[in-house]
Amino acid sequence: MNKIPAIIPVSSPDCQVNSWKYLLKTAISDPWQLLSLLNLHPDALPYNIDPSNQFTLRVPRPYIDKMQPGNPEDPLLLQVISQQAENIQVAGYSQDPLSEVNNTCPGILHKYHGRLLMILSSACAINCRYCFRRHFPYQEQQASGTRLNQSLNYIRNHSTIKEVILSGGDPLIISDEKLEKIIEQLEAIPHVIRLRFHTRLPVVIPQRVTTKLCQRLKNSRLQVSMVLHINHPNEIDTSLHNAVARLADSGIQLLNQSVLLKGINDNAETLILLSETLFASRIMPYYIHMLDKVAGAAHFDTDKEEAIKLLKEVRNHLPGYLCPALAVEKPDEPAKRLIS
Ligand code: SF4
Repeated sequence: MNKIPAIIPVSSPDCQVNSWKYLLKTAISDPWQLLSLLNLHPDALPYNIDPSNQFTLRVPRPYIDKMQPGNPEDPLLLQVISQQAENIQVAGYSQDPLSEVNNTCPGILHKYHGRLLMILSSACAINCRYCFRRHFPYQEQQASGTRLNQSLNYIRNHSTIKEVILSGGDPLIISDEKLEKIIEQLEAIPHVIRLRFHTRLPVVIPQRVTTKLCQRLKNSRLQVSMVLHINHPNEIDTSLHNAVARLADSGIQLLNQSVLLKGINDNAETLILLSETLFASRIMPYYIHMLDKVAGAAHFDTDKEEAIKLLKEVRNHLPGYLCPALAVEKPDEPAKRLIS
């Protein structure tokens, strides 16, 4: 049976409550506190909470503000609440579903032609329960300190690399000052022409889109794009809309990728609304991924044939440019596989 602990205060008059760093620092990590903030009683939930999961709960206040109080099946809450279902071992779901650990040289994932991924940080602003990197040994792989120099040398020595993808964790969790230094070094490598961010931070803390960040990206010689990670239309509120408008006004190409998640966005109505809401915020739908079969996330998985049918239905209602490609990623394949 679940029990409710005392509520922990989440704001302090001494802090700058609207700065992204403060919002990051005060992210909620206690499931009982999260439920309390949403006026939910643990005994009335249709699922059991796991308060001691090693992949801890982590959710910042601006994201909680988008959840519907009193709704235990809120699609945003279900993405972050740690459930006992995560502890069920299911055949076919592994710790490293994309074999990334073996593919990696320190700080770098170089799987595809012409582009590679730099792991800038081990942390995220939010812990998504379905994350395929939930067991990833970030401490051994992140590109910081000496490893950052090794990563940059790797890029310098591989003239086929035209695009660098900053990833993590979440690359925007590092400060504007540190990012600035990395961007400068990438700009100094002549064969690199594109810079891409994969981030969920603006979605969960829109305040992360600072004027300084926008200006630096606007002034870069690199062609900059940002792939956001938005799974549900309820994640797009005025605050996020305004934040991404600042990025779009700075000339950043905005794209979105989602994961198809059972009970969260696996219906045509939600996916259609998601695409329309993204476009209204100047974000192009890009990919919708089948879940990567990571241990602990099997309860989010959807059937591939049903997914193909679902995307056909979405296509019947939307113009082509608003339909994301349904993709699956397989270890050791040279590109994502499009299945619809
Ligand atoms: S933000 Fe992305 S990398 Fe971080 S936990 Fe969520 S899905 Fe995983």
